[in-house]
Amino acid sequence: MSNLFYQAHGRKPVLDQARGVYMWDQEGKRYLDGSSGAMVCNIGHSNENVLTSMRRQMEKSTFGYRLHFETEVSEQLAAKLTDLMPDGLNKVFFVSGGSEAVETGLKLARQHAVSTGQSSRWKVISRTPSYHGCSLGALAVTGYRPLNEPFVPMMQEMPKIPAPRAYLDGLDAEDPDTGHFYADMLETKIQTEGPDSVLAFIVEPIGGASTGALVPPRGYMERIREICDRYGILLIMDEVMTGAGRTGKFLGSGHWTAQPDIVVMSKGLGAGYMPLGAVIAKQQLVESVLDAGGFAHGFTYAGNPLACAAGLAVINEIEVQGLCDNTTVMGDRLLARLSGLMQKHELIGDVRGKGLLTAFEFMADRESKAPLPTHLNAHQRFVDLAYARGLIVYSRRTRDGTEGDHILVCPPLIINDQHIDEIMDCMDASMVQLSQDIHA
Ligand code: PLP
Repeated sequence: MSNLFYQAHGRKPVLDQARGVYMWDQEGKRYLDGSSGAMVCNIGHSNENVLTSMRRQMEKSTFGYRLHFETEVSEQLAAKLTDLMPDGLNKVFFVSGGSEAVETGLKLARQHAVSTGQSSRWKVISRTPSYHGCSLGALAVTGYRPLNEPFVPMMQEMPKIPAPRAYLDGLDAEDPDTGHFYADMLETKIQTEGPDSVLAFIVEPIGGASTGALVPPRGYMERIREICDRYGILLIMDEVMTGAGRTGKFLGSGHWTAQPDIVVMSKGLGAGYMPLGAVIAKQQLVESVLDAGGFAHGFTYAGNPLACAAGLAVINEIEVQGLCDNTTVMGDRLLARLSGLMQKHELIGDVRGKGLLTAFEFMADRESKAPLPTHLNAHQRFVDLAYARGLIVYSRRTRDGTEGDHILVCPPLIINDQHIDEIMDCMDASMVQLSQDIHA
């Protein structure tokens, strides 16, 4: 019997080792990591250069509390990150994970408002569905009922607008009117809430587990930036999943001209080597907070030198191996192959994504977009069938059955054509089996 209590779906095989895109359990069975863990292991497992950098750092120091010491490696990582950000985002605060990064971004936004005489601003608008983390603040802006509900009223839920799911609403995502239609919902919400009460809008530039790799319609990002500017509202990009090259650019929001005021990152930054996250904000925003007495925030492990050494080495690998370019090329091929899978299998109703953040969604009917009945549990059955064949993919569904079932296919950014063949063969066989099981 295990003493752990986080295994929601029963006991799993015990992990023995992992190299590149593969993982092995203690029975010697090999798995292709088609979800990079939880979209974390962007540069693959056991990268020797990262391990060497970590060993070097370990021999120097593994911890120096930030109120006692600066560390060279955290300064280097901060400098490297700001080089990769849009102009003006050059202040970095390290944390140990995505929820911590979101909490930090929200608190920074709030303290900026207080420091600049805008104390009335406290509401953070977000979207439904969305996922921004599981701590109470991050959950307050997460738009996912089953996760929110148990914690209200101890958690103050924040106002939400619908995510721009053009494919479900029968709208053309390439038409800028569609992007404007969804973005204008933000303006309406701001007006309803009272513009002086709204602090920020937080958004996943490309949906992760929430909408399943959904790319916003043309014109959407630019329009939300305009609206935020018009009302003096901060735009926070949650790049926890989309950052560190996952979509073919270092930041997912890098595909658009609209630039954030605050970026929050994690997952691919530590890439599974160490827990690491970062908040990167505009200088004047941070200065207003520092000038007013300092940021009333900080986690014990923030800026951990070993985590920063891992992060620095991970970014180096992304650059040296040209992983953003590989992601663009391989992502296009994977997406094309997923479209082929959809043509072959009726149960797949939509395919989408950018770079190596790709997904397909099960539907009962492509025309009406009706989801598969909840009791079929298709997403978990598919994940189990693929897992039995040695492929790890990631699924999400909302429990009320109205959001569809999607499967995220997000392998490490180092994949090649053979890996894609392997992923697709396994998914095809799993789909054949799933269709037979469902229609039996
Ligand atoms: N934000 C987004 C977009 C995420 O996808 C996640 C995790 O999946 C988080 C925040 C929370 O990150 P963590 O699980 O590291 O706390």
